[in-house]
Amino acid sequence: MISWISRFLRAVFGSRNDRLLKQYGRSVRAINALEPSIAALPDHALAAKTLELRERFAKRVEGVPEEGRDAAEKAALAELLSESFAVVREAAKRVLNMRHFDVQLIGGMVLHDGKISEMRTGEGKTLVATLPAYLNALSGRGVHIVTVNDYLASRDAEWMGKVYKFLGLSVGVILTQMPHAEKQSAYAADITYGTNNEFGFDYLRDNMAMQVGDRFQRRLNYAIVDEVDSILIDEARTPLIISGRAEDRTEIYQRMNAVAPLLKRQEKENEPGDFYVDEKNHTVLLSEEGHESAEKLLGRAGLLPEGRSLYEPAYVNLMHHLNAALRAHNLFFRDRHYVVQDGEVIIVDEFTGRLMPGRRWSDGLHQAIEAKENVSIQSENQTLASITFQNYFRMYRKLAGMTGTADTEAYEFQEIYGLEVVVVPTHMPMIRADRNDQVFRTAAEKYKAIIGDIKDCYERDQPVLVGTTSIENSELISGMLEKDKLPHQVLNAKQHAREAEIVAQAGRPKMITIATNMAGRGTDIVLGGNVEKQIDVVRAAEDLDTAGKERRIGELREEWQGLHNRVIASGGLHIIGTERHEARRIDNQLRGRSGRQGDPGSSRFFLSLEDPLLRIFAGERVNAIMQRLGMPEGEPIEHGLVTRSIESAQRKVEAHNFDIRKQLLEYDNVANDQRREIYQLRNSILESQDVSEQIRALREGVVTDFFRAHVPEESMEEQWDIPGLEKVYAAELRLELPLSKWLESDPGLDDEALLKRAIDEAHAAYARKMAANPPEAVHHVERLILLSTLDNHWLEHLAALYHLRQGIHLRGYAQKNPKQEYKREAFELFGAMVESVKLEVIKTLTAVEIRTQEDLRPDDQSHVENITPLHPVSGGAEEVEPEYAGNGDVALAEAATKKKAQPVVRHAQKIGRNDPCPCGSGKKYKHCHGKLT
Ligand code: ADP
Ligand code: MG
Repeated sequence: MISWISRFLRAVFGSRNDRLLKQYGRSVRAINALEPSIAALPDHALAAKTLELRERFAKRVEGVPEEGRDAAEKAALAELLSESFAVVREAAKRVLNMRHFDVQLIGGMVLHDGKISEMRTGEGKTLVATLPAYLNALSGRGVHIVTVNDYLASRDAEWMGKVYKFLGLSVGVILTQMPHAEKQSAYAADITYGTNNEFGFDYLRDNMAMQVGDRFQRRLNYAIVDEVDSILIDEARTPLIISGRAEDRTEIYQRMNAVAPLLKRQEKENEPGDFYVDEKNHTVLLSEEGHESAEKLLGRAGLLPEGRSLYEPAYVNLMHHLNAALRAHNLFFRDRHYVVQDGEVIIVDEFTGRLMPGRRWSDGLHQAIEAKENVSIQSENQTLASITFQNYFRMYRKLAGMTGTADTEAYEFQEIYGLEVVVVPTHMPMIRADRNDQVFRTAAEKYKAIIGDIKDCYERDQPVLVGTTSIENSELISGMLEKDKLPHQVLNAKQHAREAEIVAQAGRPKMITIATNMAGRGTDIVLGGNVEKQIDVVRAAEDLDTAGKERRIGELREEWQGLHNRVIASGGLHIIGTERHEARRIDNQLRGRSGRQGDPGSSRFFLSLEDPLLRIFAGERVNAIMQRLGMPEGEPIEHGLVTRSIESAQRKVEAHNFDIRKQLLEYDNVANDQRREIYQLRNSILESQDVSEQIRALREGVVTDFFRAHVPEESMEEQWDIPGLEKVYAAELRLELPLSKWLESDPGLDDEALLKRAIDEAHAAYARKMAANPPEAVHHVERLILLSTLDNHWLEHLAALYHLRQGIHLRGYAQKNPKQEYKREAFELFGAMVESVKLEVIKTLTAVEIRTQEDLRPDDQSHVENITPLHPVSGGAEEVEPEYAGNGDVALAEAATKKKAQPVVRHAQKIGRNDPCPCGSGKKYKHCHGKLT
């Protein structure tokens, strides 16, 4: 009904797509009109256009206040569009011998508008990207062009780089394992090519940097994502993760676990002993005596080197662990606060007595309890940082994408990314013949028919590309072809560069190529094969003179023309689909390999009732249709009705998969908001030389919190616990405040005034303590402690969120909406984390003693290393596997996730201090994450 109405409206008013194309068409005419004058410019004058356009841009936005800046820049670029596009087209004509077709100009405008340009395979999207890239680079804010693999990033950067360089723009490409400085300069370039993984990882790395100068990226400005559906839809489920493993942590927890019972508990406060257990506040306070005993015991346990003090910055971490162990032994009891089940410590909710699977205590407490209970200590494989592509790409000021297949997922692009899809017409009319599906009863019959079709092509000289949905199927078909002595090549998506060469030759006569869907993406299949490579070889040959080269090239071209004609006569490239993919988009990608730029071609999908998609989703309908049409044994059915009902099954699966991705996104959004907050804070700390103001505010907060725990607001003096407060100040902040004396000598002192005095004293005490040190040294230590405390707690928080996410669906039976629960608890956890950062920073700073030069050099804290070095890890992937199950049709969910999304994990290796850091920053480990502990 709806579709009838919309079809009717479209017939009367034209579709939105048509209207947009009409608008873009007007701009195309304007660009074309500039061509004669621009073409008349000599090379140097054409190149000089860049400077002129840049100046015009700068002038246009000069003096515009910050809030109007975005709009002004947008308007300025819009004004420069026609001329810029004309300039790029002219440059491409001169250096690449390619003149942007009119439809390519349209594609370029769509990209500039922050939309998705759907352009068929072979329409030249690589070239299209040069137009908006150039235009947007005029602002000097940087443009990122995102490709699916390193091979394509390098290829495109080099190929299109000729145009940019001719016009005086700089181009960079970022690759994995690139030296740090080289990559930084690639990021500083006007236009940067790279893969989605690398851009995402670098973002994460930047937010782990300990020094401003270590960062790679500028503010994320404009990204053009090639094969956008593959990156934003197919890979949307797989988060990028940088993970490491704390090698010695288990041991630390275990040794601490042995140390804790050796310390003597004070029966009552101020009696002899090492620590006092404050049951009311659920804390353990170490006495001065306890401090000394602890140093001794830790020394004996091999945790604290001879002559070192727990007050040194490098060892305050040990205090943290000791505190956790003491709490584990003295405040948390089995079967009351937690239970041990199947080797796991599970928290018991103190109010409801309900088990809270998945929830973990933070601050190392959970691990300390695990050590106490002698079960395996979890969360060793630590996520140092993680983000999904969805959330990464949404951070760009402007995002655009291009692909041959976006239209079927237009709703999702709009809904999640706010990206509109514009279908750009092809340069030449498409004449590929897409035949109806043939459906067989059994898989065996299907494969027989496929081999028959391949053989037919082979005998008629026609090249054929056989697409499969899995490597196993590729191999199955390959085996059958071998039996029939049909020569063929098999591809799966592994070696991108070599593969590109093979695909490039897939258009030669008689060529049989079997490929999984992803294989050889981004490479063009030219009918007759690609001679350009061979021509390049001849051009580069040193043993030929110019005339010899020309002759050889002429021969090659002539030879190619013969092959080309033969293939055209045989019907162009034939595509065989051996199975329908669950998304129509992927099928269209396969089909789109043929019929490029007006080439002839054909395609057919062969299916059987045994295929999973049919069996699960369309079985009954298709069966019924078959009954009705009457289907003789051994013969296929080929009918529009069947094809349509399969498509509707695909639509169902697509919708379901969309829901899964959306669900994942909703969960991830919670972490994402928190991540943004933390990263923002972290960056501001990183960028400031002096954080003493922030520290002051934190101290004020901490002093106030302790104060209010003992002197509640609007309370009577009888309710105040002044001695308790004095003790806490002394123990936690090493602050000896004679509060009771103040009150005695000044009976009029109210709680506000008392608090103010406490705060002033705390500031003063800190100032006195630090007075002996040069201010830069103090600033440095403050900044370092703030950063590393934040990082440590953030990592623990990530782990806590992860565990929460794992456990949350188990709460479903308690009539609670897991998503709501997750949000609420994640929020609480975040609040608690911020509080503990605050407290720990202040505590650490009161405890810390700046003594040696060594303390001041963050890049050489060799002694820190024995606490949490990174460690090799294998198969940790399942740890971060997103959780899909829980609701919905199980069969559907299983089919939908049969190729389970594997997160892209970059694991830390076993490394020495002088080895390159495993995060890939290109710096030495000790200068990078080796010091993050
Ligand atoms: P897509 O990414 O859209 O599938 P490519 O960027 O790989 O397509 O380009 C396909 C082929 O078309 C390339 O070999 C390229 O050289 C050629 N091509 C693209 N645009 C033009 C043009 N304007 N003139 C001539 N050839 C072009
Ligand atoms: Mg491409």
